Amino acid sequence: MDFHNTNDAVTRRIQAFTDRLAYLKSNDLYFYNQPVQEILPGMKVRVNGREMGMYASYSYLGLVHHPRIDAAAKAAVDKFGTGTNGVRTLAGTLTIHTELEETIANFKHAEAAITYSSGYATNLTVVSTLMGRGDYVFSDKLNHASIVDGCLMSGAEFRRFRHNDMAHLETLLKNTPADVAKLVIADSVFSMDGDIIDLPKMVELTKKYNAWLMIDEAHSVGVLGKTGTGIEEYFNMYGAIDIKMGTLSKTIPSVGGYVAAKQEIINYFRHASRAYIFSAALPPAQAAAANEAFKVILDEPWRIERLNENTKQFINGLKSLGFDTMLTETAIVPVLCGEDDQAFAITRECQHNDVFVLPVVSPAVPEGLARLRATVTAAHEPSEIERAIDVIGEAGKKLGIIK
Ligand SMILES: *Cc1c(COP(=O)(O)O)cnc(C)c1O
Repeated sequence: MDFHNTNDAVTRRIQAFTDRLAYLKSNDLYFYNQPVQEILPGMKVRVNGREMGMYASYSYLGLVHHPRIDAAAKAAVDKFGTGTNGVRTLAGTLTIHTELEETIANFKHAEAAITYSSGYATNLTVVSTLMGRGDYVFSDKLNHASIVDGCLMSGAEFRRFRHNDMAHLETLLKNTPADVAKLVIADSVFSMDGDIIDLPKMVELTKKYNAWLMIDEAHSVGVLGKTGTGIEEYFNMYGAIDIKMGTLSKTIPSVGGYVAAKQEIINYFRHASRAYIFSAALPPAQAAAANEAFKVILDEPWRIERLNENTKQFINGLKSLGFDTMLTETAIVPVLCGEDDQAFAITRECQHNDVFVLPVVSPAVPEGLARLRATVTAAHEPSEIERAIDVIGEAGKKLGIIK
């Protein structure tokens, strides 16, 4: 390589990656970053000229190309153009932003909401704005990377509790000085495992130990609760969470992130959080699409029923073949494979049979727990789900993952 220094640590790290990628590609085990050519009805996509069933999308309610949402985005372009050319605080705020924030606040049963340019940026900025040196944050071990990064960036004391283990969380809280500021933070639905945080117990503990509670609802909006509003509805605990964070890029077919909370907290973020003050406002089309999508979810509750039926069919089908789907109760369905190479190999078999799934390997998950992380949506047809189960089953048998 003709880098500056052919033997420093950076060069060696890049070289190690280069070698790993070359190995995967030469063995036809690399399926990341594939461009989708076309999005077709029924959660199908065209990739490399072939029509495939898509089982890696977070479009849980199948809202991509919803006519109302596409129309709202187009109308916003006609009205406002394509960019905001500034930050919200200065020239970037449009009426569509304030409408969107009102819609989110209503949807989340909160007093107010604030939006940012991505979910990742939202977690970084919100955790690091709330917490600082001398404060304590308590984070589930399987929390999303953006939460971990926000905790580290905050400079607060960082404590991690075992996954969904409320007894461990209590031990950590008990061993913290009573008079310091504390924040407990967790995913609502875990992005690699599909299981749900024990919110009732977590609320009890945060009350008992006088801690703030923040929940990341990236995978629960449109998924949990009878009307899809998320984890508070699911547990019948509206108003229990101090800071409800979410993304506009999963169930909501747009991009961006948000927080819903009490008015004073949102006002504070609007004037103190750096991702709001120093980064451009959401583009008009994306804000309008998100605004319409929240309304569509409430107007079309049948989508949530469909999602629940499809989820049941998919999980039960895989389980009955002998797969270990871990603790999932939601549309995120891990299919345990074991070693990384097994997960890559089953992916190849599925992809060759027009089932678009992807593997999750270490370090994203612990070594030996490599898996397919498949997702099912309201837009899949039951007959297509049956076909995907068959394909994954055949591949699993061939590789000895199931008998
Ligand atoms: C996807 C995701 C995010 C990041 O959201 P983006 O809008 O994609 O940046 C944050 N938290 C969790 C749990 C996620 O799954």
